[in-house]
Amino acid sequence: MEKVTTVCPYCGAGCKMKLVVDNGRIIRAEAAEGATNQSELCLKGYYGWDFLNDTKLLTPRLREPMIRRHKGGPFETVSWHEAIKYVAKRLTEIKQQYGARAIMTTGSSRGTGNESNFVMQKFTRAVLGSNNVDCCARVCHGPSVAGLRETLGNGAMSVSIEDLEQAKCLLIFGYNSADSHPIVARRIVKAKQNGAKIIVCDPRRIEAARIADQHLQLNNGCNVTLVNAFIYTLLEENLYDKDYVAKYTEGFDSLWDVVKDYAPEKVEPITGVSAQEVRQAMRTYAASPASVICWGMGVTQFGQGTETVKSLSTLALLTGNLGRSGAGVAPVRGQNNVQGGCDMGVLPDLFPGYQKVTDAAIRAKFAKAWGIDPESMDKEVGVRITDVPHLALEGKVKAYYIMGEDPLQTEADLSLVRKGIDALDFLVVQDIFMTKTAEVADVILPATSWGEHGGVFTCADRGFQRFEKAIEPKYNVKRDWDIISLIATEMGYPMHYDTNQQIWDELRELCPLYYGVTYEKMGEFGHVQWPCPTLDHPGTPLLYTDNKFATPSGKGQLFATQWRKPAELTDEAFPLVLCTVREVGHYSCRSMTGNCAALKTLADEPGLVNINPADAQALGIKDQQLVWVASRRGKVISRASVSDRINRGAVYMTYQWWIGACNELTQDNLDPTSKTPETKYCAVNVSAI
Ligand code: SF4
Repeated sequence: MEKVTTVCPYCGAGCKMKLVVDNGRIIRAEAAEGATNQSELCLKGYYGWDFLNDTKLLTPRLREPMIRRHKGGPFETVSWHEAIKYVAKRLTEIKQQYGARAIMTTGSSRGTGNESNFVMQKFTRAVLGSNNVDCCARVCHGPSVAGLRETLGNGAMSVSIEDLEQAKCLLIFGYNSADSHPIVARRIVKAKQNGAKIIVCDPRRIEAARIADQHLQLNNGCNVTLVNAFIYTLLEENLYDKDYVAKYTEGFDSLWDVVKDYAPEKVEPITGVSAQEVRQAMRTYAASPASVICWGMGVTQFGQGTETVKSLSTLALLTGNLGRSGAGVAPVRGQNNVQGGCDMGVLPDLFPGYQKVTDAAIRAKFAKAWGIDPESMDKEVGVRITDVPHLALEGKVKAYYIMGEDPLQTEADLSLVRKGIDALDFLVVQDIFMTKTAEVADVILPATSWGEHGGVFTCADRGFQRFEKAIEPKYNVKRDWDIISLIATEMGYPMHYDTNQQIWDELRELCPLYYGVTYEKMGEFGHVQWPCPTLDHPGTPLLYTDNKFATPSGKGQLFATQWRKPAELTDEAFPLVLCTVREVGHYSCRSMTGNCAALKTLADEPGLVNINPADAQALGIKDQQLVWVASRRGKVISRASVSDRINRGAVYMTYQWWIGACNELTQDNLDPTSKTPETKYCAVNVSAI
């Protein structure tokens, strides 16, 4: 029996664990002493390894490369040699006929690791010749990256997950930690036990609301109004830190012009939160010696997601709540390596290490390292994932090479995504399971899974951690970066790596932010947080300790803006708001967790639609009854879960179910800066079957 140290592949908490291996099979998982989890795991950590033993509960593992030679025809199993040649030939033809920007690729925020993401963006930029690479951060925390880069300079948590326990006040905004990151939820409970005040802003009575000192149960879709009322209160009641604002921030003079119309008393009818609650929340937040604002997709998945992030960071800047233990901003990233996807530059505007693709000197540096002509590199920002359906329908994107993503399950407005994918000339899916997107691919490239390879993940607090291979792969599969390298070589750009570390060291040399993050430092329980610029640097648990921000002026940028209503409002035909949420037992498109026996028993299809008792009664719907949920874009079967934790006028669904796929209902109104869809708000009706 052997115990292999790895990192849980399911959420950005980045829990360290041991997989216990006996005769090539995983027999259990044990919690390990990681920096973020300290010997605790949630259910997914303890029971989410089952699919590695090929339990065949839900979907078959992809075992061989396959080609579908004609649209609608059958898949044909082929050799790796043939599959690689076929993909290289088709991508070359499409590039020659339509240009480099007609091809789109994705990185993956799931178990593949940072090395494969680095290689995918290198392939896209150096071989295909465009910046058309993106990852699922686009549909979740893209606004956190964009917003925080503008106001503070770094698009990530300023504190560590561990540090949340040191906060004396936690303002939890649109973030259901108990379902999204259970181990982070434990930290919140511990902070409460240490005496922290907990303020929850959420339309639902989520778990954190049960231990909160205040629960501001705002109406759906008015985040900016509530944050403006917070800023108004800080200014009007003189609760802000004048000295800090004067020394370390810019933009104060224009704040009042925006928020003057958002007196808590005046906006009560919009937010549904009493002025007294708003004012008390800000008095608590500002008076606390150290406050952290945590947020999740209840902030980001709106048309004003980036603006809300900028306004939330303004609360921290106004009160000097940055750069100290227990004080900061904490957008808690969802998937296990979604922070890593951004760190590795699987983004259309940034090289690895957050270096701009529009900067000629940066392009020249990468071109030199990769042995290509800098003039051959794309100088413009590339295409975003959420642009792809539209551009495919316009004939501008012709080929899509998807690594470890399932847009036909996880992206907003599936009928639009389906039409876009149908319009492509060529679709390659590289994955571990037959996902909804793989089912319609022209080529399937089967990859090794977490557990079958090692590498580096980045957890939500910027911490790089190594994970190790536990078992040999059973089928004719290859590592993601091996597959990409073979295609690159076949296309005339020789690319070869023997180890993850070779890739990692190439990355370090190109990224000053990560240069000091060596494989040795990350060994076993190493957790090295960027920036880590030199070999003797220990990493940076807390950003902005010197009150210098990574903005062009070095000052924090204060921001407020007018609230806009969500794009699609309720009416007589569609009287309820649909908000998509997380499910504690399942992960992303469910291909991994759905193949784990213990997790499958927690929840099964069809997915639930959570509804308030009064709304259910008015509609004649009983608990656990099958219902139709319909929007202007589609209609799905679901099962009603009647709960008084749900606010009136809204229903909540999770997105991983094939029966009851709520993305058939959602809409792709995009945040103009980050291009993140407004999956937290669309209009639906619910009717009994
Ligand atoms: Fe895995 Fe997240 Fe659970 Fe930790 S909290 S065990 S990383 S799913």
